[in-house]
Amino acid sequence: MATSSKSSALERLKAYYNDEECVCTACGFVDDEADWAGETDGRVVEYSHECPCCGAVMEHTVDLTVA
Ligand SMILES: [Zn+2]
Repeated sequence: MATSSKSSALERLKAYYNDEECVCTACGFVDDEADWAGETDGRVVEYSHECPCCGAVMEHTVDLTVA
């Protein structure tokens, strides 16, 4: 579990997006089941979520090197 601290931080951020950014910025659809996907290359994490209503993709990039 060498990466436990980093992964838990990523999970917290993902949970934050799931809670706080469940409203589509394009159409206003509220996705109660929003589940952001997170991908990391070890330096940055790219979170994305596609609106199930209009297909707009919201993205966040988090730089781990400054976190
Ligand atoms: Zn939408």
